[in-house]
Amino acid sequence: MAGNLETYRSKRRFGRTGEPRGSRADPGARWVIQKHDASSLHYDFRIEAEGVLKSWSVPKGPSLDPRDKRLAIPTEDHPVDYADFEGVIPEGEYGAGTVLVWDTGHYEHLTEQDVDVAEALRRGRVSIWLEGSKLRGGFALTRMSGRDQWLLVKKRDEGADRRRKPLRRQPKSVLSNSDLGEIAERGKVLE
Ligand code: MN
Repeated sequence: MAGNLETYRSKRRFGRTGEPRGSRADPGARWVIQKHDASSLHYDFRIEAEGVLKSWSVPKGPSLDPRDKRLAIPTEDHPVDYADFEGVIPEGEYGAGTVLVWDTGHYEHLTEQDVDVAEALRRGRVSIWLEGSKLRGGFALTRMSGRDQWLLVKKRDEGADRRRKPLRRQPKSVLSNSDLGEIAERGKVLE
């Protein structure tokens, strides 16, 4: 039986003590946030579950401020290797525009031990710990009652930060270190 590290973790502030958080329940579970300059600029948030990337479109992107509730609109499942996709979707195609991998990493499921991520998503409430280059810490995704709209909210932990504003201060790709304009330029050359 898998152990339960909740008590261990609840007593510690890992950003300060340097102690390990412990191994992840599912080390293979990826997440990605892609900045997508389509008909309107938005951020696509995707987390691996059931062999696909469950996906939401987040118009304002994630916030590190636990007071911010960011609207997240579900979109279709994407393949897991889409997490590495960056480039230009040509004019006239679905999602036409430039895609930049804004941040990615693996996540740890924080919801109750006996519920997997897929089941937590079906129930409309999932909490995950993101380990990325820009984002780190717990986030809650919660479906609003009676609607197919969700809220993405930073949890109150050592990853929370009201001032850092990574969307504005760290706009470049974690894969290529390019901004949207540079990726768009390269896309034109290839066409
Ligand atoms: Mn999109």
